[in-house]
Amino acid sequence: MAAFWTEADFDEHEQVELVHDRVSGLTAIIALHSTHLGPGAGGTRFWHYADPSAAMHDALRLSRGMSYKNAMAGLPMGGGKAVVLLDEDRTKTPAMLAAFGDVIERLGGRYVTAEDVGASEADMVAISQRTPHVCGLPAEEGAAGGDPGPFTAYGIYLGIKAAAATRLGADDMQGVRVALQGCGSVGGGVARLLAKDGAVLTVADIDSEKAKALADELGGISIPADAIMEVECEIFSPNALGAILNEQSIAKLACQVVAGGANNQIARAEDGVRLYERGILYAPDYVINAGGIINVATEYLCRQKGTPCTAEEVNTRIGKIPERLKAIWRESEATGLGADVVADRMAQSLIGRG
Ligand code: NAD
Repeated sequence: MAAFWTEADFDEHEQVELVHDRVSGLTAIIALHSTHLGPGAGGTRFWHYADPSAAMHDALRLSRGMSYKNAMAGLPMGGGKAVVLLDEDRTKTPAMLAAFGDVIERLGGRYVTAEDVGASEADMVAISQRTPHVCGLPAEEGAAGGDPGPFTAYGIYLGIKAAAATRLGADDMQGVRVALQGCGSVGGGVARLLAKDGAVLTVADIDSEKAKALADELGGISIPADAIMEVECEIFSPNALGAILNEQSIAKLACQVVAGGANNQIARAEDGVRLYERGILYAPDYVINAGGIINVATEYLCRQKGTPCTAEEVNTRIGKIPERLKAIWRESEATGLGADVVADRMAQSLIGRG
């Protein structure tokens, strides 16, 4: 079917809700890209957009990304995303959160929300007063849910080990040189797991004190943020910003593998080809960084069933990330297509659009 929408990012989204609530002042967009595999799941971004079309662009693009990510994570969930358009002062009121919860409830479970940029656990708790279709709620120690960072880091760690086995023939990470960009929640978690396995770490962050503290803790070295992509190493792990893999940076990479958690690492489609042509094994970001969504989706699915769910069950599901990556790399090898293209094709096929 030809797209009726004029937005460049429209990809036959099943439903796009434009919401305005006069009383609370809530203005939001909820985009459901696909519910082929289950309810469209994806977080809510609270952001001030200079231009409403930028908000629509985010909602359409990010909801499609969630369809792909959830499908490749083996979750019985489709893809959705919400954006709440805040004023310049970024005021977010209890009334807005309540109204937003009511809108989600009216969608009857077709959309399930969670935290994204600008959202807190407390916001999800507020939304949960109006609808059960929310996850990322506070969790007790050892239960599914709660802070996604450690789960995301665990999946990336497993993915890096799979890449080391595939590209370097390494049975373990002992002595493998890893250059890590970003020492926050995800990057710090990945670094700690790799350090335990004896990897040799070089870390960088725009907050140089943070990088130094992590390097001191783990016995690695920290270097200036603008030098990390050129470090000679086996594995470069981006865990900070998106769009870092472009023509200039790819030409300077001195690694054999790129595997990290940052979202949307590849700046343009042709940069995926560049990585492939340079012989660098790439772990598609939305496949390797799915630990966080696996965590909150498991929390939601268990709550729906009324059964308790442990972090161990989440980690078992995350344990499948390496298999998926290896399937992508095999297909990439067989077809001569970049891993990013292969992953997109697999995801499209899983959501019935192949
Ligand atoms: P965070 O804010 O805790 O950490 C990000 C770190 O990157 C910060 O320390 C920041 O100073 C640093 N940084 C920013 N720009 C940098 C640059 N140019 N060079 C070096 N360091 C830089 O965020 P996080 O939760 O660790 O997320 C990191 C990335 O992973 C983001 O792209 C995020 O979208 C993605 N991600 C996170 C999760 C999760 O569960 N937290 C899940 C999926 C994807």
